[in-house]
Amino acid sequence: MPLNIPGLLAPFQLLWNPRIILPHVIVTDIRQLNFLALRKTGYRGAVFDKDNCLTIPYKDTLVPELQDSWAECREVFGESNVLIAESVSHHLSVPVLHHGSPKPAYRCISAIRAYFSSLPNPIQDHELVVVGDRIFTDVVMANRMKRRVTCTTGEADKIPPIRDREKGPLAVWTNGVWQKESMVMRWIERWLVDVVARRTNSKRELSDLKEVFTKSSPQPEVRQGKIPLIMKQCWSLLHKK
Ligand SMILES: [Mg+2]
Repeated sequence: MPLNIPGLLAPFQLLWNPRIILPHVIVTDIRQLNFLALRKTGYRGAVFDKDNCLTIPYKDTLVPELQDSWAECREVFGESNVLIAESVSHHLSVPVLHHGSPKPAYRCISAIRAYFSSLPNPIQDHELVVVGDRIFTDVVMANRMKRRVTCTTGEADKIPPIRDREKGPLAVWTNGVWQKESMVMRWIERWLVDVVARRTNSKRELSDLKEVFTKSSPQPEVRQGKIPLIMKQCWSLLHKK
């Protein structure tokens, strides 16, 4: 697997912009996402990560438990409006973006924008939902897509009412894993999100958005991932009042 330099450099952006790692919505897996609510709020397209979000890492087939949600997503948004940003080919019934640069590289972002702009009914960044299981690639990429958009009269009402809504996509973090992978890094990501959410008073916003855009799913079988014992102890020490 090639080294993901943009992903490795992403943590440094935390130094001057800690909110770059904050998702808008946190779910265990996509079964908890309410695609109809997203569509009704104004989101018209979605970009999905593949490994440990839709499939077992490095496999091409959808995790069977996600069949219904994935079908619902494609039906709600339309298959051409759902993109998988991945550098390998597979068969998930939606277009695949074969980007040369890994997430969260700006070149990958440009490729995503080029795809959605090329649609017969073009989709802008703030009408997208970006879904992925990794903070420093998927969530950072979604937040890097924020930019100011000029609203003409009457358009402002159509923009989804969320933080920085006028600037970029909705970042959805699926923090469950279908197969253990990079568990230490995942623990660090979870810890950082928690710290930044508390320091920036974003906890309330996270729970408000969760209420709007999620639904209860059948008991998720996706694992949260076992956290090494030493890290559990660190976590409880850090959260001791
Ligand atoms: Mg992934």
